[in-house]
Amino acid sequence: FEGGFDFGSADPSSTSEEFTGPVPVVAVVGRPNVGKSTLVNRIIGRRQAVVEDKPGVTRDRVPYDAQWTGRRFTVVDTGGWEPDAKDRAAAIAAQAEIAVQTADVVIFVVDVSVGATDVDEAAVKMLRRSHKPVILVANKADNQNLELEAVSLWSLGLGEPFPISALHGRGSGDLLDSILAALPETPPVLEGAPRGPRRVALVGRPNVGKSSLLNRLAKEERAVVDSVAGTTVDPVDSLVEMDGEVWQFVDTAGLRKRVHQASGTEYYASLRTAGAVEAAEVAVVLLDSGDVISEQDQRVISQAIEAGRALVIAFNKWDLVDPDRRFYLDKEIDRDLKRVTWAVRVNISAKTGRAVDKLAPAIRRALVSWETRVPTGALNQWLTALTQATPHPVRGGRAPRVLFATQAGVAPPRFVLFTTGPFDAGYIRFIERKLREEYGFEGSPIEVTVKPRK
Ligand code: GDP
Ligand code: GDP
Repeated sequence: FEGGFDFGSADPSSTSEEFTGPVPVVAVVGRPNVGKSTLVNRIIGRRQAVVEDKPGVTRDRVPYDAQWTGRRFTVVDTGGWEPDAKDRAAAIAAQAEIAVQTADVVIFVVDVSVGATDVDEAAVKMLRRSHKPVILVANKADNQNLELEAVSLWSLGLGEPFPISALHGRGSGDLLDSILAALPETPPVLEGAPRGPRRVALVGRPNVGKSSLLNRLAKEERAVVDSVAGTTVDPVDSLVEMDGEVWQFVDTAGLRKRVHQASGTEYYASLRTAGAVEAAEVAVVLLDSGDVISEQDQRVISQAIEAGRALVIAFNKWDLVDPDRRFYLDKEIDRDLKRVTWAVRVNISAKTGRAVDKLAPAIRRALVSWETRVPTGALNQWLTALTQATPHPVRGGRAPRVLFATQAGVAPPRFVLFTTGPFDAGYIRFIERKLREEYGFEGSPIEVTVKPRK
């Protein structure tokens, strides 16, 4: 999972809950030909946006992933905005307005070699109505004279104009700094940041074999490691080497010592589960394969899902499964584990050691899914095709549509859909199901939130 973005583990006290805010969105608007696409290319640092020389050649809103000094945001390139436009041009203007409404910050681009036009003035009125923070860019300030011309744009009433040359790069660093300053707070990108061992919660109702498994792992791998260079490990945790990697099994003090709670302690068991799951990145839920899947098992699974952790379900005591039990177990899995068909599953025996070596690869697989990031462009392309093929049912005479989507975070993957109206729960589930069909996310919960336009 190199290259995955790990927001959760560099600081063990931080949880992914802090990172629920969507990746901020920056919309670039302005008349046709002022240099919007050229600027977007500058910002994303790639020649990805299409620059069309012909005026009137149009684009719809196109989102791109961008990053500047460790901050991540989405830039939306829009076609030229013109007031009172007709037909195709009107559609483009509407798209630009939508982009403004869904943005956190708007970059308004004016061609300084031309100066402010009536169309620019009209655009300013539209921007005022949106109540969004606007950064005024005086583009095509290719030389010092043109740079001085930029002061004339104060007349637009949008504050200080930023003279830049999108084509030559002049001034674009300062502009990016200002964009970042205007964005809402988001977590820094921790690419390549050093991190400690992955944190695993071994959970399950009493007697499913948690301490047996931990002891087996410690013995089999010969090492319950005491420390890992550069990390501090909570004394209640165990460091265990599996498959050539050190893992931190959290909150295992009780398991290690085989301290067993007396009867009637489901409440304490559930507290322990909550604490361990909270501290971990991935939950390994043990089930007793010889016994029916109980409500208490279900609750442990729910705790892991609700905490948003990666999930591996380990069917322990597999040595007790004969063909007869297998028949009923399969039925129970179909019936009781329907909501977690996406979990990674392993059939193990802590007693005999069967398939215990499958555990580390299973955990890794779940963590990779947990940290998957779908690029914004690909996500929107896929979603557009999906929602065109199967649109939302008509509600109150209209079918609400997706305007734009973004992955707001990882660990677990969270998606935010900006829409023209509220979505039915059933349609959101449909999108979730299709997201899984397309991107897998095996072993990770995912979250889809809809934000209807106000
Ligand atoms: P858009 O329609 O607003 O997206 O504008 P484009 O990015 O397609 O640019 C329109 C034209 O202006 C293209 O020929 C660009 O090469 C040119 N252009 C863009 N930025 C600059 C600049 O900073 N200086 C100069 N001289 N030309 C620019
Ligand atoms: P915990 O309460 O979840 O920590 O469960 P324990 O590890 O204490 O195990 C409860 C009982 O199940 C003990 O008697 C274990 O010997 C037994 N046990 C654990 N794992 C296995 C297994 O894979 N197969 C069988 N047959 N018994 C097991």
